[in-house]
Amino acid sequence: MKSLVFSFVFFSLSLAQVLPDGANLIPFECPAPENQREPQNETERLEQERRAKYRKVLPAYFAAVSAEPVTEILMPVEGVKVKDVADTWGGARSEGRSHEGQDIFAPTGTPIYSGTNGFIYRIGENRLGGNTVVVVGSGGWRFYYAHLSTYADVREGQAVTPETLLGYVGNTGNAISTPPHLHLGIYTSEPKRCDWEAINPLPFLVDRP
Ligand SMILES: [Zn+2]
Repeated sequence: MKSLVFSFVFFSLSLAQVLPDGANLIPFECPAPENQREPQNETERLEQERRAKYRKVLPAYFAAVSAEPVTEILMPVEGVKVKDVADTWGGARSEGRSHEGQDIFAPTGTPIYSGTNGFIYRIGENRLGGNTVVVVGSGGWRFYYAHLSTYADVREGQAVTPETLLGYVGNTGNAISTPPHLHLGIYTSEPKRCDWEAINPLPFLVDRP
């Protein structure tokens, strides 16, 4: 059992050290969020440990993207128009949360492309999001693609464009009892660098030509 735990931690650590090609680790580390609670169990402790590893490389991603914030996001889900997205930003969600993003509904297996240029910062599974991909775009904005059924052939640190296939629509995580959809979240670094401040993606979404 001990060796199993060890290999799990080791695997996470190597994943967390992936940097964009040509980027160097920057001697600056994003701090833990102020609202981070004491881990309640081993799963939570491992997740916090993994997040700390990712925070360590985040400044290298910030340095690899342009400083200008994103002005538009191309519709990530194939065949969907922006006008078809019902605005659910801020809607009530389980556990007293509010909806920090937009849901874009499409059949399971519909291709999901990156809506912006940037770098894949993290690929991984979590309780609420299921299979997720996080892209760091210009301005250091982070784009969160959640509930994927499966991933495309992508890796952390990879440069992406709006032509890059990230994965396929699904209902993994807490979307398991809902129709398949992409949850798209945007997190900015305001007011402080390293923050994860959610903003509404809808005003930035534009149809693909
Ligand atoms: Zn959602």
